[in-house]
Amino acid sequence: MTMKLSNLEEKLLREKFADGEDYLDALYRLECGEPFAYIIGEWYFYNETYKVSPDCLIPRPETEHLVEWLIKNLPMNARFADLCTGSGCIAISTLVHRNDLTAVAVDISDKALKIAKENASSNGVSDRISFVSADVLNGDALADGSFDVIVSNPPYIKSDVIDTLSPQVKCEPRLALDGGDDGLDFYRILFDRYKKNVKSGGSIICEIGYDQGDALKRLFDCQIMKDYSGNDRIALLNIN
Ligand code: GLN
Repeated sequence: MTMKLSNLEEKLLREKFADGEDYLDALYRLECGEPFAYIIGEWYFYNETYKVSPDCLIPRPETEHLVEWLIKNLPMNARFADLCTGSGCIAISTLVHRNDLTAVAVDISDKALKIAKENASSNGVSDRISFVSADVLNGDALADGSFDVIVSNPPYIKSDVIDTLSPQVKCEPRLALDGGDDGLDFYRILFDRYKKNVKSGGSIICEIGYDQGDALKRLFDCQIMKDYSGNDRIALLNIN
């Protein structure tokens, strides 16, 4: 085996695969380029543990900025919507740390929604979240709902860049990555067609790609915030 594991990866694999044969099988899958999180079947985000599978994106640390913003800025007893919820990590971690809030989580993939429901239950917030199976791009996934905030980490990679990504990323669902020709398809819809679903004084807040801040500022009167690496990572649109 040429695979070099960190001490933490080694510890996690040994915990999951006590049987020597299962452990070797896991190493083989890693060598073949399968993401570590899919092999152990779970990943860590904010302060929580999430079940993950190739039906949902693996939660990323950059996305924790959205959760931090929500925990800090949502008004008391607010109701928010998480569009393209995937594993459910954004909505669920926010609810865990603010027990006055309620949320609606939307995804086009029923397989992802099944995982998000399990994650809501394992993290103890099932009674404060509801799930909707809908295509966010059709612009009407929230029907007549009205929310304090809409949050989303939508697919934002340019279609023709996806094939150049690492084998690990290519194991993740294309549906969760592909943001169309210029990567901005979801923002055009989110910042335009979902404004009607946000109360006056509320906001739409999204994760963006590190190179998308300028393009979004040209398209919308939004504020761009950076992640801890100094890259543009969040776009915030205030609704009057
Ligand atoms: N909201 C999920 C996450 O942040 C999934 C995002 C997506 O599928 N694009 O991981």
